[in-house]
Amino acid sequence: EAVPSAPAGMATPSATHPIGINYNENALGMSPRAQLAAIDSISGANRYPFSRLAPFRQQLADHHGVAPASLLLTPGSSAGIRASIAAHARGSNTQLVIPELTYGDGEHHASNYGMSIARAPSSREDWSFEMADMRALVDNHDGASVVYLVNPNNPTATITPADEIEAWIESRPDDTIFVVDEAYGEFVNDPAFRSVDGLIARGVDNVILLKTFSKIHAMAGLRVGYLVAAPPLVEHVAGFIESDWMTLSWPGVEAASHSMRDDAFLARSKQSNDESRAILTRALEELGMDYLPSEANFVFHRTPVPLAQYQQLMKEHFVMVGRPFPPAQEWCRTSLGTPEQMRYVAQVMRNLRSQQRL
Ligand code: PLP
Repeated sequence: EAVPSAPAGMATPSATHPIGINYNENALGMSPRAQLAAIDSISGANRYPFSRLAPFRQQLADHHGVAPASLLLTPGSSAGIRASIAAHARGSNTQLVIPELTYGDGEHHASNYGMSIARAPSSREDWSFEMADMRALVDNHDGASVVYLVNPNNPTATITPADEIEAWIESRPDDTIFVVDEAYGEFVNDPAFRSVDGLIARGVDNVILLKTFSKIHAMAGLRVGYLVAAPPLVEHVAGFIESDWMTLSWPGVEAASHSMRDDAFLARSKQSNDESRAILTRALEELGMDYLPSEANFVFHRTPVPLAQYQQLMKEHFVMVGRPFPPAQEWCRTSLGTPEQMRYVAQVMRNLRSQQRL
């Protein structure tokens, strides 16, 4: 059976080197300047990275328009999710409020800390949820709430408009902390999206912003992230995680710091993602496979065959697509690789259709 040959310039996918579009990683690779900085830093990595942390924190603070005391460095945003929840868990009287379909880490940690989970229903058509339902869950709860909102959401890649989020946060519901995870924020095109960093810069003190270098900066393997919040909130959450000089690596900090200054790389990272998205969505449209409007580096789309079968068909052509996201049984999350990779993936999909296997 014909396997499309990989486009020029792209290594031919194989069983040992498949196209990995299953983890929302950035296939471009790190900024060349960041790579050099990480390599250079190795010679100093016998030391703890104390001396680099204050300048890095300052750089991030300037980026978000806040004071350095509003910053907490974490090894990826995963650690920030856990610590933010741990810092506010008071047993089953505290609830985590989430949309039914969202990134699972919040629920995982909240359950481990004995919190109850309250889910706003997601539409079976497009997996959207109503902010009014989220608000009702908080208003009707007799106890504390942690609202975990991923924006753009994962696995749907859709955004919640800033006006809806900001109005709720600023209404200051009793005993409620908002944890807003903007891991994919830099990929967004829709002007209705806005980071909550503006609220924090204005002194709003009931919201934690989670950020990561794993996505637009293509640094998932170096584990650098941070959170932004009012200084007292940062101090409280810091009590639930090891000190940054114990968790961050010198190469990670150097790479992140240089990547932030590499405007050309960041523009290329965004532009390449836009191009890859257009290639995939064109194929999905041609094949009549519904998809949600993507504002991130992945697309959530329907599959004409059960997901396990779709995964297997793609795997036979050395393409690894996303895992199941129950209750979305007939939907697949496909991450965006390089444009070259996505042209190959689109061709695999078209071939499967012409063979009537899709
Ligand atoms: N938050 C969201 C919404 C994610 O999708 C991911 C990873 O895919 C993470 C956080 C964790 O990323 P990291 O720990 O690499 O920053």
